[in-house]
Amino acid sequence: MDASTLITKYDIIGTPGGFIVGSGIGSDYVEVLVQGSKLACECFNGQMDMNGRCEHIIAIESGSIGVDGNSIAQIDQGTADFYLSQISNIEASIQQNRDSAETQVKNIEDWLESIVAKDERRMSYYEASLDAWMRSSGLKTKSLAHGVMKLRQQQPEIVIQDELLLLSDKRFVRIVPEKEVIDKSALRKHVVNTGEEVIGISVKLRDAKFTYTTICPSENKPNDSR
Ligand SMILES: [Zn+2]
Repeated sequence: MDASTLITKYDIIGTPGGFIVGSGIGSDYVEVLVQGSKLACECFNGQMDMNGRCEHIIAIESGSIGVDGNSIAQIDQGTADFYLSQISNIEASIQQNRDSAETQVKNIEDWLESIVAKDERRMSYYEASLDAWMRSSGLKTKSLAHGVMKLRQQQPEIVIQDELLLLSDKRFVRIVPEKEVIDKSALRKHVVNTGEEVIGISVKLRDAKFTYTTICPSENKPNDSR
């Protein structure tokens, strides 16, 4: 048997920060990051080996696959389906991490709320005592070593009970001018239907938008499409 057939073929996909490397359908794909002039792989061997020379890094360095790290590889239908399953797994992982973070944020918020409420209860005792002391001493302002206290007369609070009745008294009415704004949906409809390039706008034609829907691995239920 030809020795070269024993060598694993690696699928190397360029990403903004490095590469995603796997050995095809059904295998685990790992992330290899470019860190300065070095490559760092997240796989077990990559983490354990001090020189960080796991099979994924060797595959990238040997460049034997012929897939340029920066270009999108030509794939077949089987690989396309496998890539969709990878996206589905990643989405599940993101959701799991979000849920986990949310739980922890909730716990921390609950803790903060309870500790703050306790401190505020303690503070309110001192505030009430100081307030009463200022009133009973007839002081408007008092400066002490640890702070300044003031008792200030407040403006009366005005509550409007009958707005209609009040509007008939023109002394207290002002007119807010009507504002003209662009009706964007009417504009789009007109441009799409007539093709007219209305003065004051420019129209950019856009390429077909790629979207996808994956099947959730655990529930076998479609996720939101992108
Ligand atoms: Zn690796």
